[in-house]
Amino acid sequence: MVMKNSKLERYEKLNKLGEGTYGVVYKAREKTTKELYALKKIRLESEDEGIPSTAIGEISLLKELQHPNVVRLHDVIHSNKKLVLVFEFVDQDLKKFMNNFKDKGLDPHIIKSLLYQLLKGIEVCHKNKILHRDLKPQNLLISKECILKLADFGLARASGIPVKNYTHEVVTLWYRPPDVLLGSKHYSTSIDIWSIGCIFAEMVNLKPLFPGNSETDELKRIFKLTGTPCVEKWPGLADLPNWKADAFEKYPGEPLQNICPKLDELGLDLLGKMLRCNPQERITAKAGLEHPYFNDIPDTLKKLYQSN
Ligand code: ADP
Ligand code: MG
Repeated sequence: MVMKNSKLERYEKLNKLGEGTYGVVYKAREKTTKELYALKKIRLESEDEGIPSTAIGEISLLKELQHPNVVRLHDVIHSNKKLVLVFEFVDQDLKKFMNNFKDKGLDPHIIKSLLYQLLKGIEVCHKNKILHRDLKPQNLLISKECILKLADFGLARASGIPVKNYTHEVVTLWYRPPDVLLGSKHYSTSIDIWSIGCIFAEMVNLKPLFPGNSETDELKRIFKLTGTPCVEKWPGLADLPNWKADAFEKYPGEPLQNICPKLDELGLDLLGKMLRCNPQERITAKAGLEHPYFNDIPDTLKKLYQSN
């Protein structure tokens, strides 16, 4: 399944789509089929270092993961210096999509549909023991038909491929849960649910929920909304490396409705269940999909999953 370098020549490189932490993403056209793809080049740390077999295993797992809400990985091209991942091409990402609606706002049905798809995609990942760990609007792709696809699984992050940090780009804190900000090393599926909550609120308000500029500022913004947590209600808190009982002002918290006035009651209830500081209280993707907020999801959307 890992292909020889010559396979790259099958693709005609078009424009650059993005440049992130680990490499460059190009739009490309397969020369014979004229099909469009996104080629993600990952720089490896050193030329003599191969790719650990565990990483290859993880990539092949993603290749097997065929779901309407996960970007299709068509191919993996591996030369000793580079790893090129060949993905289906998708028109835009959620950040650009939201920008287009800055003035008129996003239709509540569109928000609901996108959130449903986001949860469907992450549910299948979690079922396969894959954590995303970097969910944010730039890493969610939206097709012309309004199908959402999870992208940028950071195979690098997750599996110890020795990659080079390409741009020294600052990793955004805005979608990071408080337990991780407080130094928890215990990554679990709940990390992705927090991010999804932040994205949900951002689709409603068309601005980021917690745009912090440092870890402390990020936590402060979170606690202002959720209330500053305490060991009585969250026993694991005392064990987190960066938690000090008197380091944070004791905020009482705010009703979510003040922050997302456009969201209906069921939506606010679901959002509240995602934005729990204690990761063990956070709703799972599976339970989230069964929340009454989704009772009026159209059948056309459900049809998408009938063969899955
Ligand atoms: P990284 O953030 O590690 O650089 P990403 O996989 O997130 O890499 O890709 C960077 C950007 O390129 C994305 O935010 C998106 O705008 C664009 N992009 C990524 N994958 C695709 C794809 N399959 N189709 C279209 N655009 C893509
Ligand atoms: Mg990205």
